[in-house]
Amino acid sequence: MRTLIDFSRRYGADPALVIAGGGNTSMKENGVLYIKASGEALASVSADSFVALDLAALLAILEKRYPLSDEEREAAFLADVQAAALPGQADKRASVETLLHALFPQRYVLHLHPTLINGLTCSAEGARAAARLFPSALWVPECRPGYTLARLLADRLSPERHTVLLQNHGVFFAADDAGTLDRLLKHMLDTLGGEVSGAENAEPPYPALEEPFTPDQIVYCGAGPELPEGENARALYEDARKIAAFAGFFGGPRPMSRELISFIVGWEAESYRKSRA
Ligand SMILES: [Zn+2]
Repeated sequence: MRTLIDFSRRYGADPALVIAGGGNTSMKENGVLYIKASGEALASVSADSFVALDLAALLAILEKRYPLSDEEREAAFLADVQAAALPGQADKRASVETLLHALFPQRYVLHLHPTLINGLTCSAEGARAAARLFPSALWVPECRPGYTLARLLADRLSPERHTVLLQNHGVFFAADDAGTLDRLLKHMLDTLGGEVSGAENAEPPYPALEEPFTPDQIVYCGAGPELPEGENARALYEDARKIAAFAGFFGGPRPMSRELISFIVGWEAESYRKSRA
């Protein structure tokens, strides 16, 4: 647990890697998954910030059939994830990506939204650039988070895979020790830093607020024309400006689709996260 808390705080304290309540981390031990509770900031986690869930019960969710409508499916899925929590955990809500963390066989999983990496995931040529620069990473096209994303990964994730890039969202690293997580992240940041050299001197463009790049941006800035008040909204918008600048090196910025934006706007799990902000 000490290792999990240490690397969660260390990465969480760097706004270039994650802002506000974004991102999450987990650890597996003796058949239990410990994952950061939804809405908690990585920078300030303690042992109490993690929800303990039965790993086998989580993986059994993949065998279930759910209703087709978004609302019914997400409600049933969320109830099943919560039901996998060990006794005494009812007051904490597991992250929306809990099942995804469970799918990695490695002991530790680190999920971040780094600005530089999202310059790649939110770009028109992102998939092609990712294949060239990070051939061992799995690229996942824009997809509804939660159940849909976990289902997709369950079919594509192989045990030796340690890096997953999510279009218009962020990155997952998985490893059996914290040092390997460090190396995987550093390699990706160094490689991308070389690709976008000079970007730090450019004046980033002002992307349209109605065309958000990531779910985080919707949670903290909304998807309307006006930027809301507050530190998190401003931080996310400055992040979006840098993402747009970095994306210029990979074929130009690519906002989320209208369809995915309206899903996130109406998604209960993200309203919950916003209410904790
Ligand atoms: Zn995320």
